[in-house]
Amino acid sequence: MKFKTNFTTHFDTNAIHIDEVPNLSGETSSDVVSPIHFSSTFAKPDYENTCLGHGYSRLSNPTREVIESKLSSLENATHTICYASGQAAETAVILSYLKSGDEILCFDDIYGGTRRLLAHVFDNFGIITHFIDMREATNFEKHYNPRVKMIWAETPTNPFLTLCDIEQLALFAKKHKILSVIDNTFATPYIQKPLDLGIDIVVHSMTKYINGHSDSIAGAVCLKDSTLYERLRFVSNSTGMVLSPMDSYLNSRGIKTLGIRMQKHCENAFEIARFLESHKKVEKVLYPGLESFPQHALAKKQMKNGFGGMVSVYLKADYEQMKSFAQNLQIFNLAESLGGVESLYGAPYFMSHGSVSPEIKQQMNITKNLLRLSIGLEHIDDLKKALDNALHSL
Ligand SMILES: *Cc1c(COP(=O)(O)O)cnc(C)c1O
Repeated sequence: MKFKTNFTTHFDTNAIHIDEVPNLSGETSSDVVSPIHFSSTFAKPDYENTCLGHGYSRLSNPTREVIESKLSSLENATHTICYASGQAAETAVILSYLKSGDEILCFDDIYGGTRRLLAHVFDNFGIITHFIDMREATNFEKHYNPRVKMIWAETPTNPFLTLCDIEQLALFAKKHKILSVIDNTFATPYIQKPLDLGIDIVVHSMTKYINGHSDSIAGAVCLKDSTLYERLRFVSNSTGMVLSPMDSYLNSRGIKTLGIRMQKHCENAFEIARFLESHKKVEKVLYPGLESFPQHALAKKQMKNGFGGMVSVYLKADYEQMKSFAQNLQIFNLAESLGGVESLYGAPYFMSHGSVSPEIKQQMNITKNLLRLSIGLEHIDDLKKALDNALHSL
């Protein structure tokens, strides 16, 4: 971004303008929007140098660099690398910093794909993960042993929107000289910036809010430390899990409106949470912004610009009534994923936690009448009406 005078710019301005620099030299067209560079390789002017620092697109690509710079600026990171999915980003983190014999402390309330990766892929390589309750920071110490090299959490989580204290997690990691990782997918840097609170590594599934339009699978790792970055860059180039130019472009376009989208997601979700909480066909609503939310105090401390776009709800309904609710619900599509402009909903019992045994689901309170709503950007009255109509069919 080039401005004629020096002044500090804000989140929305950075999301739009970072790395969108028209080339006014007259040597090429002066695109206002950074073009898509599909080239896999870049010509060199001589044996030793590369033009603009790019040599081969597995290591770096100009279009990928655009989304990487934008996300770095929003997360207050100095470096970001984008990957072919959130899962690929997580894989890059483990491969870069851990080895056989190392152990991880991970929030037990975590995205199912993360649990599968840690518990059923990396365990085969001798990296052991302990899934622990992280709602209380005092619990970290109880599970520490000298083989623990990383602490990993997501906040808020899926589907209970449970929180963990990011600042406390960072302090614990510093005390034991281990790496701290926050999956910031649900909150996004619009709401919280874990690196500013002392966290070492932020991971994202950009598939969700960052891209925001449900048309790309993508992930990212954001860092402040250049030694950590050098290792990540080396491993990423060695393993090749990076994001394609087309997806990089889609994510760069998506992230430009992250601020205004998150503002509206938060507004709509809060209103839906209040509406559902007062509805007679509803048993319980989980939303960090509600006074009734068990960790509301922590939410107010840590979630700066709103409480997110996700709402979980238990309906007063048996399975037959749940089916009738689904038949009657308009606007909301029943689908995996979240964070897009369109509202979606999921039934954790059958979907995200479908492979978990019924006994464990019972223990976890994942029952058939639990729904997870990703509140989109449709008009609030339409969303309310759609839910109200479906609830009246119970
Ligand atoms: C979706 C998701 C992931 C995985 O990301 P993909 O882009 O689907 O690979 C990781 N963490 C969280 C919190 C997610 O919601």
